[in-house]
Amino acid sequence: RAWNLLWSDRGMEQNETFTRLLALVTEAYESHPQAREFAPFPTDLTAQPVTHVPVPAADLLQQEQGFTKEYHSGLVEAIRAAGGMAHWLEHYRGTALGDEFVDRFGCFPIIGPGGAFHSAHLRCWVVYMPAGLHYPWHEHQAEEIYLLVAGRAKFSAFGSADHDLEAGEVVFHAANQPHATRTGSDPVLCLVFWRADFDSPLVLSSLQ
Ligand code: FE
Repeated sequence: RAWNLLWSDRGMEQNETFTRLLALVTEAYESHPQAREFAPFPTDLTAQPVTHVPVPAADLLQQEQGFTKEYHSGLVEAIRAAGGMAHWLEHYRGTALGDEFVDRFGCFPIIGPGGAFHSAHLRCWVVYMPAGLHYPWHEHQAEEIYLLVAGRAKFSAFGSADHDLEAGEVVFHAANQPHATRTGSDPVLCLVFWRADFDSPLVLSSLQ
């Protein structure tokens, strides 16, 4: 693939790890009708350097043994491998959610700022939540889907019934629709995609 040529100043291991992850994310996305309906997988991807920023939740993902079901073979291990060299985010550090939440909520970009790839048309992050975590109501202008890669969780979206989702299922969030996620006895590993309004802020909702 063409982007291999752009990685000359990056370590071979990082190159291979993110290239393999992108290949599996592409396959998983393109084999899912609801994902394809959300947006075409981008054809304008370019590679960009990644700065490794570890966080406490990254260690929890490496140690996680509770994924009972996996959508698309190999994707969980590819995400774990990339997690060992990713730019993990702590968007909610210092907010009302508190350090206990932030230390357990894991998120890193694949496509977008901080991620290994850039596209003008789609953003993609990994979101990991261990068992027994509540991600409270939040919202953003960007339209979004969550594609569950492993595990299960309860997804809530303002104005809709709650949905218990498992690996292979997709949930859509409309522009500025508050949404929340809660894990029970299982963890959950997701791919999250935005298709527009990339620069709109991600904010906690006033519903709490
Ligand atoms: Fe969201």
